[in-house]
Amino acid sequence: MTDDAVVRQIAQKIVSSRQMVVLVGAGSSTESGIPDFRSPGGVWDRFDPEEFTYQNFIASEQARENAWQLARETYAVIKTAHPNPAHLALVELERMGLLDCLITQNIDGLHFLAGNSPEKVIEIHGTVRYVICLSCGKRYNRDEIETRLASGVKVPRCDDCHGLLKTATVSFGQSMPERETAEAFRRAAECDLFMCIGSSLVVHPAAQLPIVAKDSGACLVIINREPTVLDNLADIVYHGLAGETMERIMTYVREWKS
Ligand code: NAD
Repeated sequence: MTDDAVVRQIAQKIVSSRQMVVLVGAGSSTESGIPDFRSPGGVWDRFDPEEFTYQNFIASEQARENAWQLARETYAVIKTAHPNPAHLALVELERMGLLDCLITQNIDGLHFLAGNSPEKVIEIHGTVRYVICLSCGKRYNRDEIETRLASGVKVPRCDDCHGLLKTATVSFGQSMPERETAEAFRRAAECDLFMCIGSSLVVHPAAQLPIVAKDSGACLVIINREPTVLDNLADIVYHGLAGETMERIMTYVREWKS
């Protein structure tokens, strides 16, 4: 099948779907200038993932200092990033009534900046846009904490209870948010089209979602720059850039929906 025929086939599936769920990974934000974790030059090329566990964060002041240092670096990049055509395509699909739900592993908040509605988006790994107190649950806007860090504070503490503050993201070794995770699995089991965009599909439990969808009878589409571990399971696989590919898919979707 030609390259364009595969793009058309994906567009056809989208237009004819009854309930489409999209799972997005870090690869859908690299075209916005935010590095993913596993590609060369990605975050884990420069930092050791073993060091940034939730358990270390709780146990050691030095680990917290390192975690906040990495968080500041990441946030500086995310703060200046803009949505790319992959994000914009997902907003357009929502407006066309073609998106049941968007499950994102991304913590950058770009789907909201692009215009997706909060009720359509499940952030299963949380967000860097907020900070929470691990003791009392108080939620802070990230910029407020950023101001403290910029003034020299290395490990910020809660104003109310002096508890540990942590970005509202899910770290390695930390429990997944219960409500969001349950909802993501429910949607995956109920959809008839499940599309993965820009994810290596190795991070669990998120990587279980396409399997659940497929087992429940959905058509599985994978769009990624390189092969993923679930390509064999998919009905349609397209290896290409998320933004560029979604833009091409949307050309057909618009034509057929008008
Ligand atoms: P990952 O780093 O494991 O995989 C990203 C995949 O996307 C890779 O297979 C890569 O080949 C592919 N890719 C990179 N650029 C692409 C592009 N332009 N178009 C298409 N494919 C592209 O990321 P993951 O699967 O999301 O899982 C790892 C964890 O990374 C998640 O928990 C997520 O929270 C976190 N993360 C998020 C961000 C973000 O919020 N933007 C950035 C880095 C990591």
